[in-house]
Amino acid sequence: MKALYISGEWKESGTVYRNINPSDTGDCVDTYAVASAADVTAAVAAAQGALGEWSSSTPQQRFTALDFIGTEILDRKEELGRLLAREEGKTLPEATGEVARAGQIFKFFAGEAVRNSGEHIPSVRPGVEVDVFRQPIGVVALVTPWNFPIAIPSWKAAPALAFGNTVVLKPAELTPGCAWALAEIVSRSGLPKGAFNLVMGKGSVVGDALVRNSGVAGVSFTGSIEVGRSIAKTCADRLAKVQLEMGGKNPLVVLDDADLSVAVNAAVNGAYFSTGQRCTASSRLIVTAGIHDRFVAAIVEKIRSLKVDDALAPGTDIGPVVDETQLQKNLGYVETGKKEGAKLLHGGERLKRVKTGYYMTPALFTETGNAMRINREEIFGPVASVIRVKDYDEALAVANDTPFGLTSGICTTSLKYASHFRTHADSGMVMINLPTAGVDYHVPFGGRKGSSYGSREQGRAAAEFYTTVKTCYTAP
Ligand code: NAP
Ligand code: MG
Repeated sequence: MKALYISGEWKESGTVYRNINPSDTGDCVDTYAVASAADVTAAVAAAQGALGEWSSSTPQQRFTALDFIGTEILDRKEELGRLLAREEGKTLPEATGEVARAGQIFKFFAGEAVRNSGEHIPSVRPGVEVDVFRQPIGVVALVTPWNFPIAIPSWKAAPALAFGNTVVLKPAELTPGCAWALAEIVSRSGLPKGAFNLVMGKGSVVGDALVRNSGVAGVSFTGSIEVGRSIAKTCADRLAKVQLEMGGKNPLVVLDDADLSVAVNAAVNGAYFSTGQRCTASSRLIVTAGIHDRFVAAIVEKIRSLKVDDALAPGTDIGPVVDETQLQKNLGYVETGKKEGAKLLHGGERLKRVKTGYYMTPALFTETGNAMRINREEIFGPVASVIRVKDYDEALAVANDTPFGLTSGICTTSLKYASHFRTHADSGMVMINLPTAGVDYHVPFGGRKGSSYGSREQGRAAAEFYTTVKTCYTAP
């Protein structure tokens, strides 16, 4: 059994979770301890206990610990990539890439720990000096989803620790393996006991107990909009700081003047890679009339060439869906799309492979309207729709007509339209001639409307959540 990590000790539990490989349901990755409410209380108390020491640690100590973690993750990226692919189902190259990203994030925030600086400002009053500096907020709870099981815990834990906070991480129940591996590396990084704690188990029990604990000063959450909204309410009640990253219904606009192969590659990558299980996935392909038929013919040809199979098998382009519940949800949306009158041009069926797993063919709908449920609601699977529009103006209006606003993209060779789109797209991130998914770690990540709430994650923007500003007046 892989144990909980509380106050620098490994703690087993009476209940365990069996982590099943979605590519091969006969393969149990490992068993993981499930935390009780008392374990959550103990983890928060441990984090509070470590706060004095860690918040007063030097930038060098923080750099050394985070750099150690980043180096080890990078050194072990093949091994951890296999673990990730095995527990979550993204392909081995995608999984290895995600692990490498986690390592780079720790390295980046190791640097941020030593670059954390304030401002010295002359006062408007004579004989007074003003200093503005940043301090940690305290114990932070990190609640993370299954689709990026090492990158998301890393992009929250690294800045939390870099700025002197202490951490309790509650990973998704479906993917505890990467979080446990991260905790094991952290346990050897020289952090004080209790500075980083891992509690595993169900969100409705363990996650809920954690976000309700009054010792938690801030909650950073990534997941669904329903859970995010309820966490925000809980935090508002006791005036705790909260940051939410949630879903998307990201548009990729393809204009008549687009380079067809650029557009098709961006659409296929954005819609179907990582089995479409990315908050930044392009699920609405908004295509102008002049290129529509050529685009549809080319994308279908490309989708047909994609190999859906075991995430660990060489040559697999698309791995399985994460579990049976998500697979049934995806197939349910395929039925919904057909009932709504959309044309299912390709895929959308359960697939059998040599090993039993949660496989489905990537689905493409055409002749869809933006008001259809398949274009309003996040599906979170390999299902995309083409929406035909007459021109750029209609494309922009349709792109922005959504309750979400995480990312959006446009494929065009026109500087005029590209420039207009990046100004007027109502999303936190905009991609030009690139897939809507795929971001850098040193710049802000986040969205608008129903996609995000609170300050941005990653890059220098992370300091806004993980620190609180102090303004100090001195009469020397
Ligand atoms: P989810 O069901 O909302 O779960 C996210 C996390 O919250 C999990 O650890 C979950 O635990 C926990 N949780 C569930 N109920 C809770 C509660 N009442 N109190 C506290 N914690 C609770 O989301 P998911 O199904 O794992 O992930 C898919 C969603 O994440 C999609 O909507 C996707 O768009 C979004 N996502 C967003 C981003 C972004 O940055 N915008 C990135 C990736 C994913 P369990 O695992 O036990 O359910
Ligand atoms: Mg869930």
